Amino acid sequence: MLLSNRINAIEESATLAMAAKAREFKNKGIDVISLSLGEPDFKTPQHICDAAKRAIDEGKYFSYPPVPGYQDLREAIAAKYQKENNVPYKAENIVVSNGAKQSIANVMMALLNPEDEVIIFSPFWVSYDALVRLAEARPVLVKGTLENDFKVTAAQVEKAITPKTKAIIFSSPCNPTGSVFSKKELEDISTVVLKHPNLLVIADEIYEHINFVGDQTSIASLPGMFDRTITVNGFAKGFAMTGWRVGYIAAPKWIADGSNKVQGQITSANCSISQRGALAAITGDLSPTKKMVEEYRKRRELVYNLLKEIPGVKANYPHGAFYFFPDVSFYFGKSDGATTIKDGDDFCLWMLEKGHVSLVPGGAFGEDKCVRLSYAASEKDLLEALRRMREILATLK
Ligand code: GLU
Repeated sequence: MLLSNRINAIEESATLAMAAKAREFKNKGIDVISLSLGEPDFKTPQHICDAAKRAIDEGKYFSYPPVPGYQDLREAIAAKYQKENNVPYKAENIVVSNGAKQSIANVMMALLNPEDEVIIFSPFWVSYDALVRLAEARPVLVKGTLENDFKVTAAQVEKAITPKTKAIIFSSPCNPTGSVFSKKELEDISTVVLKHPNLLVIADEIYEHINFVGDQTSIASLPGMFDRTITVNGFAKGFAMTGWRVGYIAAPKWIADGSNKVQGQITSANCSISQRGALAAITGDLSPTKKMVEEYRKRRELVYNLLKEIPGVKANYPHGAFYFFPDVSFYFGKSDGATTIKDGDDFCLWMLEKGHVSLVPGGAFGEDKCVRLSYAASEKDLLEALRRMREILATLK
C-alpha cells in the first residue's frame, strides 16, 4: 500500500522471476532445465579474465572511476563504433553503466517527462515497458506479426507517432524474436523519424555479435540519424560477461551528459575491475566470440528442427540473438485432466512444474500467444528439454 505509484505501475522482471522460480525448483533437488534466462552458458574468455586479475594486482583500480567510465574504455568503444559500425562517436558520446539495462534506465530518466509517449516495437524485451513507466511516461506498443518475422514496419511507426511521441525503442537482433532489421528496413524507419524534428530512436544492439546473417546496420550510421539515435550496447552477450555488468550508450553529447547526470546520482559509476575486463574485450581478439556464435548457430538449427516436431507450435526462424519465440496458443484451453492451460503464464508454470523446463511467458514481451525459449544452453540440455516439452504436451487434451 505504501509503495509509490511508480513501482505499483510495473511488474517484476519476468525473465528474472522465471529464473528465480527455476532456481527454487533446482534447490529442492528437482532436475529443471532452465531455458528462461538469456545468459550465455560459456565462460568469459580467458584474456578478459586475465585483464581483470591484472587490474586487481596492479592495485590502481580501487577508487571511484569517472562517472561515465574510464577514458580509455570510452575511447575504445568510440573507436569500435567508428571502425565496425561506421558511426563517428567520440569518447564524449559514451557512458558506461552497470549493464545495458541501466544504460536504458538512465536514458529514460534523462529524456522522459510525464505524458511523453515512447513507441516500443512489440514483441519487446521485458524491461523497455517497465523502464518507460518508471520514468512516468507512456509506452505505446506497435505490434509486429509472426508472418513478418515479428518486425514492425516503417508504415506502422508512422501511424503510431503523435505530437507526444518522444522516442521509439527496439532491439536488433531482437530479444525475444531473434529478428534482425535489414539496412533497407532501418532506412525506411529513419525516413519516418526524420520527418519529426524532435523524435529520437533508442537502438538496442546488445546482440550485435550474435547475428547469423551478418547484415548488422546501426541506425545511427544512416544519414541524419547520428543526432537522433541513442545506441545501446554492452558486453554481457557477445563476450559471455553477464555477471560483470557492463553496458553503455553511445549518443549525442547532450543525451550522454544527461545520462551521466542520472548515473552520478544513482550509482556513481560502473565497477572499476569490470571496466578493465571490458577494455580487454573490446580491444582484443574476437575469435572466442566467433566460436560461441558458431555454437549458437548449431543450436538454433537443432532447436528449430525439434520445435517443428511438436504439434501445433509455430515459430519464426531467428536470424540473431539466442531465442525462439514460438506461438503455443494451440495448447490454450487444453487440459491434462487436473490443470487447464488458459494462457502463456499457465503454460510456463505447468511446463516448469510438470515438464521441468523453464521458459518465459510471452505476455511479458507483449505477445501472450508465445513463450520465450533461450537456446544459450548445452546441446545435451536442449535435446532433453525439447524431448520433455514434446512428451508432456502430448498429454494435453
Ligand atoms: N536480457 C536477458 C534476458 O532477457 C537477461 C535477463 C534480463 O535482464 O532481463 O533474459
